[in-house]
Amino acid sequence: MAALTGRIETAEIVAVGSELLTAHRIDTNSLYLTGALNALGIVVAIKHVVGDRPAALRAVLQEAVSRADVVITTGGLGPTDDDLTREVVAETLGLALHGVPEILEIITQRFARRGARMPEVNRRQARVIDGARWLPNTHGTAPGQIVTSGNRLVILLPGPPSELEPMFEASVAPVLAARAGGRRLRRRVLKTTGRSESQVEELAQPVYAPLVDETPPIETTILASPGLVELHLSCSGDDEATLDAALDRAIGRLTDALGDAVFSSDGRAIEDIVGALLVERGWRVAAAESCTGGQVLQRLTDVPGSSAWVLGGVVAYDNAVKVEILGVPDRVIATDGAVSDQVALAMADGVRSCTGAEIGIGVTGIAGPGGGSPEKPVGTVFVAVTSAARRDVRQFLFPGTRAMVRTFSAAAALDMVRRHLQG
Ligand code: AMP
Ligand code: MG
Repeated sequence: MAALTGRIETAEIVAVGSELLTAHRIDTNSLYLTGALNALGIVVAIKHVVGDRPAALRAVLQEAVSRADVVITTGGLGPTDDDLTREVVAETLGLALHGVPEILEIITQRFARRGARMPEVNRRQARVIDGARWLPNTHGTAPGQIVTSGNRLVILLPGPPSELEPMFEASVAPVLAARAGGRRLRRRVLKTTGRSESQVEELAQPVYAPLVDETPPIETTILASPGLVELHLSCSGDDEATLDAALDRAIGRLTDALGDAVFSSDGRAIEDIVGALLVERGWRVAAAESCTGGQVLQRLTDVPGSSAWVLGGVVAYDNAVKVEILGVPDRVIATDGAVSDQVALAMADGVRSCTGAEIGIGVTGIAGPGGGSPEKPVGTVFVAVTSAARRDVRQFLFPGTRAMVRTFSAAAALDMVRRHLQG
């Protein structure tokens, strides 16, 4: 490779693949790459999605190479006819391709290890652009390539995320880090629940707005999804310790403003927090779920190691299941209705006593779109969390579709467990 000069500050990503222009596949590689580049202090200025069409790819590459310090393509390095990235990049940069026997040998061996003969079409994957450095693919056949063009870099990476990600980490990140000029971008995510996006904004905005004028300046964005509002803070500069200290201060001030709505500032999800609190107490949890259909237990058991503190539960839709398995009294259902605070409490108590868990969760609600009434409209959900010491129950009215009501309900249940364990 030619000697390189000049700092890398901006990147463009070119995701190649006709499937990415259909309704069936989405370009996720650029999300991964953006995160990885940002961590190195490189800004993604523009990203492109282009089909397997040489003319379109050539036009996009010409533009990208004329602007960005580094252009990263993903996809189109396969063995089939529609995989054209290698050839089009070479042509765009005015370079030729040559076969590399070592790559051919590696690919042949890869097939041989599985008892197969290398198909002739895979020969194309051993072709490297003149002057490029090729990058070994530890998880597939297509090697990546790094080409220098003037002061710029063009980097070709394979499409499958399982191949691209380890290749980026092992072979691309070190090259970029050496030229990113030491400028670093640091991020923090503050996670809150139980408040709407606008409520979080109202409390947080007076705190975060001035941060952008401090040194180093901190930028803040709010991201909301059902049951979760996140504040993303980022700042860039040359000294990581200074950046981290500034972000710590900002997180501290925002946590003061938002109070106990904040459940994490270290990336952990609420189910991780609940798991850690249960481990601390030596308690185990069980859930009885109507409305959420098992989503609370699904999320809890997403946490590795959760079998140490999740006992199990019951998905209880029919009243007979509530009565006969969970021991919810018939007359409570008759007087209060299946969707009521008393039934949620009885479900939580019931699942606790039939499993022996120290803490129980009961969820009952109307996810919709049918089943609502003037007194209990769609979105009405009761969540109970009980232990020997305390019985909490709350009524919610969640907006949105069936899927949203269920997601909101599960998030509320997990947050009530967190508060029960912390309070
Ligand atoms: P290719 O290298 O173009 O043959 O791509 C192989 C496979 O990688 C495709 O079928 C997709 O499943 C996946 N893939 C390609 N590009 C992307 C992308 N930008 N994001 C996520 N997956 C991708
Ligand atoms: Mg493709």
